[in-house]
Amino acid sequence: MSHTIADMPEGFGGEGFFATSLSKAIGLARANSIWPLPFATSCCGIEFMATMGSNYDLARFGMERMSFSPRQADLLMVMGTIAKKMGPVLKQVYTQMAEPKWVIAVGACASSGGIFDTYSVLQGIDKVIPVDVYVPGCPPRPEQIIDGILKIQELVKHEPLRRRYSPEYQHLLEKYQIA
Ligand code: SF4
Repeated sequence: MSHTIADMPEGFGGEGFFATSLSKAIGLARANSIWPLPFATSCCGIEFMATMGSNYDLARFGMERMSFSPRQADLLMVMGTIAKKMGPVLKQVYTQMAEPKWVIAVGACASSGGIFDTYSVLQGIDKVIPVDVYVPGCPPRPEQIIDGILKIQELVKHEPLRRRYSPEYQHLLEKYQIA
């Protein structure tokens, strides 16, 4: 297993000292300790298993701890076709996760319904929950899934501490009838 050292956040350094803002320090810690909850329903989930395997080793990014309990997860990874009947279940899992939380739609099905333009399939999970990053492909390669996670890490790193209390965020949740 290899280890990497996280980059320092922006700040001021000198002989024997380094100073930054609390927001950046917390962002750094959060971004490098994300606990993903894999919500896998079909083929994209198999691609995710490859991403977790030793060849691609997602744990390199400080996220080896998969959580199958929504209360101990802060990144929801939705992989696969989501039938409309599954929509309320997905929403329930999302609402059970503690704030702050992020969501990746992995693959064409989770992002837009994919090739299943039919009455029974949700045409993208953003019909029921907010999404932070979309990963294209059918299925996406592990490199693309990793790229999606790196993008989430960037979002997490730079998210202001007050964002979750902002009127804009409350408005977003109200739009999804979650707040
Ligand atoms: S995007 Fe393609 S590979 Fe992924 S779940 Fe849908 S059909 Fe399967």
